[in-house]
Amino acid sequence: MNAPALCDIPVTLERGQREVFCGLTGIVWLHRKMQDAFFLVVGSRTCAHLLQSAAGVMIFSEPRFATAIMQEKDLAGLANANEELDRIVHRLLDRRPDIKTLFLVGSCPSEVIKLDLGKAAERLSLTHQGRVRVLNYTGSGIETTFTEGEDTCLEAMVQAAPETEAAQLLVVGTLPDVVEDQFQRLLDEAGISEAAGQIVFFPPRRAETLPTIGPNTRFMLVQPFLNATRRALLGKGCQHIPALFPFGVNGTTAWLNAAAEACGVASTRVEAACAAPAARASKSLAHYRDTLGGKRIWFMPDSQLEIPLARFLEQECGARLLEIGVPYLDRQTLGAELACLPDNSGIVEGQDVDRQLDRLREANPDLVVCGLGLANPLEAEGYCSKWSIELVFSPIHGFEQAGDLAELFARPLRRKSRLTV
Ligand code: SF4
Repeated sequence: MNAPALCDIPVTLERGQREVFCGLTGIVWLHRKMQDAFFLVVGSRTCAHLLQSAAGVMIFSEPRFATAIMQEKDLAGLANANEELDRIVHRLLDRRPDIKTLFLVGSCPSEVIKLDLGKAAERLSLTHQGRVRVLNYTGSGIETTFTEGEDTCLEAMVQAAPETEAAQLLVVGTLPDVVEDQFQRLLDEAGISEAAGQIVFFPPRRAETLPTIGPNTRFMLVQPFLNATRRALLGKGCQHIPALFPFGVNGTTAWLNAAAEACGVASTRVEAACAAPAARASKSLAHYRDTLGGKRIWFMPDSQLEIPLARFLEQECGARLLEIGVPYLDRQTLGAELACLPDNSGIVEGQDVDRQLDRLREANPDLVVCGLGLANPLEAEGYCSKWSIELVFSPIHGFEQAGDLAELFARPLRRKSRLTV
């Protein structure tokens, strides 16, 4: 399949102070997905605090992440830091025989002391050969924002994946298990699974079962922030099937149609498989047109979900887009999405937070989608806000979740209108 021509919608570049979480945040949903993986952050007390608060919602789950805190004495010499890390890993593996994959996650302090986590992962993999696979990736705030932690994690898994010649379709990006099951059913019913060879969801539910990949692997993204993972898969000879992201009725239908077309499946089969769930989704979305129709929405750059979600709100809920801030924009990953947005969507890549807030106050939007750090001050000024982190933690993909996705934006608007009546 030929790649579509890149859309030339105007994008303003902005550079300045940013207000975004670091990539360590991804551990919260990655550890929930891969049940046999453990995430060891090599960092400072700040990193430990961030994880504790970000993962506060997970308080009842068996913890599968920790922070190896590098003390000041470790900073004095790298030999000490490596020994300390090895000691922590040995102790952890002794205590937790269930761990099959251990991720060493880099942070800002470990960057500062130049501890080579790639070498540490190799050394520890050799030491514990046959018992555990040790991989490494960075979640450092210097190198990653918020959702990019998942991207660097999956990129590391792609690099470690064994090769295969088998034909398959890889569905790339973390989905809650229940949504994954819905997608598998849709792909089966549309005849895509059979035509593709097999469907493989990546990341897997067990990190131990890394996918095998190769030249007959085609892949589709379900998350728009997986740019490094996409490049790593291309580097291994896999073929990308570009598509809209499966949010809302339009996104999910287009995503399935792209898969069908690439695998040589007739579009009538997709239509038949989608008819009932798409009708249910359209019916549940109709309830939200009153609340969201005509509402003026502003996205601050945060999760990298902004562009597909803006497309969903504009096309399927009748909202108006004032500004769509994105931390990074990769036109290869988002080409199909950009082509669906109106030319005056106000896309801004990067951030200069003060200038952006000035523009926001002037435009006076009905709803601001932003990170936690900005939501409270904006609420105090009388704006209605939606925490973008909820959009990453909640099941929002596919037909069955389309109404829930609209509800996430409608709820703060309803709450505000009740308060102001
Ligand atoms: S920004 Fe750096 S120091 Fe702060 S929590 Fe993230 S990785 Fe740790």
